[in-house]
Amino acid sequence: MTTFSDLELDPKVLKAIAEAGYETPTPIQAGAIPPALQGKDVLGIAQTGTGKTASFVLPMITMLAKGRARARMPRSLVLCPTRELAAQVAENFDTYAKHVKLTKALLIGGVSFKEQDMLIDRGVDVLIATPGRLLDHFERGKLLLTGVQVMVVDEADRMLDMGFIPDIERIFSLTPFTRQTLFFSATMAPEIERITNTFLSAPARIEVARQATTGENIEQGVVMFRYSRKEQEGSEKRALLRDIIQDEGDGLTNAIIFCNRKMDVDIVAKSLKKYGMDAAPIHGDLEQSQRMRTLDAFRDGQLKLLVASDVAARGLDVPAVSHVLNYDVPSHAEDYVHRIGRTGRAGRKGKAIMICSGRDEKNLAAIEKLVANTIPRIDLPGGTRAPAETPVTSAPDAATPETTEGKPRSSRTRSRSRSRSDTPKAPVPAAVSADPIAPEAVTADAPQPAPQPEPVEAAKAPERSQSRRGSSSRGQSRGSSDRNHVQGMGDHLPSFIALSFEERK
Ligand code: AMP
Repeated sequence: MTTFSDLELDPKVLKAIAEAGYETPTPIQAGAIPPALQGKDVLGIAQTGTGKTASFVLPMITMLAKGRARARMPRSLVLCPTRELAAQVAENFDTYAKHVKLTKALLIGGVSFKEQDMLIDRGVDVLIATPGRLLDHFERGKLLLTGVQVMVVDEADRMLDMGFIPDIERIFSLTPFTRQTLFFSATMAPEIERITNTFLSAPARIEVARQATTGENIEQGVVMFRYSRKEQEGSEKRALLRDIIQDEGDGLTNAIIFCNRKMDVDIVAKSLKKYGMDAAPIHGDLEQSQRMRTLDAFRDGQLKLLVASDVAARGLDVPAVSHVLNYDVPSHAEDYVHRIGRTGRAGRKGKAIMICSGRDEKNLAAIEKLVANTIPRIDLPGGTRAPAETPVTSAPDAATPETTEGKPRSSRTRSRSRSRSDTPKAPVPAAVSADPIAPEAVTADAPQPAPQPEPVEAAKAPERSQSRRGSSSRGQSRGSSDRNHVQGMGDHLPSFIALSFEERK
């Protein structure tokens, strides 16, 4: 078995690894570090949770330990799709480079330019950035990429989802062609394959098993959900979520609850809180400082339930997450793999439970096809409620007494679920709905405009250069097209579909 000392890393890096408590390299580390140290390009096909961050951070520190940075000319560059992931990569550098003198700067939206400018002016060894923010700095004339010796692209498949590929291509073209490239992606979509064929030179290809397909340490299950009345769907689904959480008992030490839509992230978090649970939302519309605070609280164990959207939780590295709860079936099968990969990390056991509505069954089938497995059906109280087509004659406020939120439960589970769900800690308004956030729930269940995908920096960051965006640029085309419902695309419109051809010439 390969050990870290076999990998020819700098002794100071080895010391930091030992202090971090890591004994043996993970397969992606054992596979990627040797060619990276030999100066070769690396194509790593691995998802988060496999130790892929250290597989580029460790050789980079070793290589950068010699030499000095020049003003405005970073020696290496790490591109990440989201701010959170960029911040996490920066933390990895802090951990593993603590005995090596290295300077780094983090260029992400939501953080002031001034401080970053000062660091870059002095010269940095490592620049960690999201693509939009990096190009903003470049266009302001504050940065030269001609000194980049090593460039990392992390989570390229997510870059593709977020419409960053044109930016990535541009950044590649701004760096010297002699650079070394370390490129990581969980999947190899044709567009990713094209980029790697164009910009990587004879890469060492290391592919590690996906967690979801091996997945022995993640217990998975799906609860089939049928609302009894359309207008009660949201509140019934939230009651089911509470049932699931309570059913897991003490085994659920903390959980990430994924929703497909930002609006649901807010509603679900609010509902859980009103029922006395320790929950907070995180999605791209929240202030960066608030997102960071919430993430820190979750990481530190002060927050038990993190209700999240896919992009906001992307790359979130909390080693001990006991549960992932999918409030919705993700509309992209790949996202299921990413979501459940938040639990069962670093060799621990994890559990992933998903709620599947009737309309989500197609997506569930796509997931099962992708992971080449059937996800076991869990029989939970309220899991299979009255079928949607069952005629309901009673008025909305004539809720049967044995329901949580105005709908009958199956007789099999009635007594179990009543004891929990019928006793919300918050005051229950009259019989219309026991869910204290019913007004929003009604809004949520009412016909909605097509949900906006998570904001990417292009769409969000006001500081982003207008000149680059132009009238047909990504940021604008996303915004406008997202407001139109796209038939046949489900709830998620990948941003690359909205790209104009002109921009890509
Ligand atoms: P990543 O895939 O980079 O997001 O890393 C997943 C988790 O594995 C992180 O919590 C790392 O700190 C941890 N980790 C990375 N390398 C190792 C290793 N060799 N042994 C044990 N844990 C590791």
